[in-house]
Amino acid sequence: MDAEQLRENAHKMVDFIADYYKNIESLPVLSQVEPGYLRNLIPDSAPNNPELLQDVLDDIQAKIIPGVTNWQSPNYFAYYPSNSSIAGFLGEMLSGGLNIVGFSWVTSPAATELEMIVLDWLAKLLKLPEEFLSGGQGGGVIQGTASEAVLVVLLAARDKVLNRVGKTALEKLVVYTSDQTHSALQKACQIGGIHPENCRVLKTDASTDYALSPELLSETISHDIAVGLIPFFLCATVGTTSSSTVDPLRKLGKIAKTNGMWFHVDAAYAGSACVCPEYRHYIDGVEEADSFNMNAHKWFLTNFDCSALWVKDRNALIRSLSTNPEFLKNKASEANLVVDYKDWQIPLGRRFRSLKLWMVLRLYGSENLQCYIRNHIKLAAHFEGLVKQDQRFEVVTPRIFSLVCFRLLHPNKDEDNANQLNRKLLHDVNSTGKIFISHTVLSSEYILRFAVGAPLTEERHVNAAWKVLQDEASALLKNL
Ligand code: PLP
Repeated sequence: MDAEQLRENAHKMVDFIADYYKNIESLPVLSQVEPGYLRNLIPDSAPNNPELLQDVLDDIQAKIIPGVTNWQSPNYFAYYPSNSSIAGFLGEMLSGGLNIVGFSWVTSPAATELEMIVLDWLAKLLKLPEEFLSGGQGGGVIQGTASEAVLVVLLAARDKVLNRVGKTALEKLVVYTSDQTHSALQKACQIGGIHPENCRVLKTDASTDYALSPELLSETISHDIAVGLIPFFLCATVGTTSSSTVDPLRKLGKIAKTNGMWFHVDAAYAGSACVCPEYRHYIDGVEEADSFNMNAHKWFLTNFDCSALWVKDRNALIRSLSTNPEFLKNKASEANLVVDYKDWQIPLGRRFRSLKLWMVLRLYGSENLQCYIRNHIKLAAHFEGLVKQDQRFEVVTPRIFSLVCFRLLHPNKDEDNANQLNRKLLHDVNSTGKIFISHTVLSSEYILRFAVGAPLTEERHVNAAWKVLQDEASALLKNL
């Protein structure tokens, strides 16, 4: 590594990235390439001799960028956002530059200690209960994704209950969730050896705006206990993936507690909104939770990946996930003076991810972050208003955060054809390359999702997106 060479090349790369952002609006949001497009554009083996950075950059421009879906485009409204920011990028750059591997405290004390401090900062912004802070038995850890977060807590919960009732009871353990819970939980159950028939995916419907019903949960648990099964894990969501519903945490948490279950709250997307005092009530009841997760990389200006997980009992994680091979032994760990995050996660190696979250919190400050969230919610409300003004469309579920679920009505009120119509509208709209939205299905209805949350999105982009939707809808309806 030659420092001067690094400086020169890194400057070129920063210029390249800055130009990408300068031109991002002119790029199709959803990549329009066909499957396998790259195979013919790239040699089929690695070069023998070094190439010039400029040649690689030219290839990136000509061959890679067309195959990129531009998540940072202001016209990106699909799934949920995955934010980048200058602060997040700088932190990511520094993390890549230092390139440490902080699995144990000793391998880079600053990496562990900064992560603990910054997650305490974020926990305080979210007004999480004291037990989630690192001063006591709990604490925060940065996982790569919400999927890893739910997996590690499920493993901790599983082992906690098995220690109590005996290892042979694995077949009897039951997980509770709703049909709106992210599929990450199902994957965690598969990995965690939970019997496939023991994952209770409780039905939701429009009567509760697709929130998990505490009554249904109670009934199901009672039935399972009566037949000798062991309820052990409940996952509730604040901001479900389909429609941003909020499950009633307090009631659900009390049921979990009464039955000695682990209660996990997945606030992967909507957790960010709860740094605003006016949205904090959506996580009321989090006091009942054993673990809480939010993805700073979704809607909190922190470049991917940065999924913040807090637990009240860190020893539960450590008991499930720790290993202590000779080659990792060191004085600080053996004296039990430090946190070794390798024991809070699946992999051994881990990046210095807290740097970017620290940069985001410091370079923007909590007031700006709150304004950032509020602005997106305001833009979503604006979009919702536009949809409501057009009789041809309907808003399908109440909008809480920055997601609007809506659909085009079929002129003959024909439900089967309404689904086809909306599927076609999604395809046509995304094929323009002007915007990118995604879909879901609720109560057998094909629904369009418009999620505001890209950092560069302004009102003019929302208005332009609505125009694209209206124009494509008019064309479709004309040809019916
Ligand atoms: N939970 C919720 C509510 C989500 O919306 C998502 C993704 O959108 C996930 C979990 C999975 O996130 P990740 O990709 O971080 O695993």
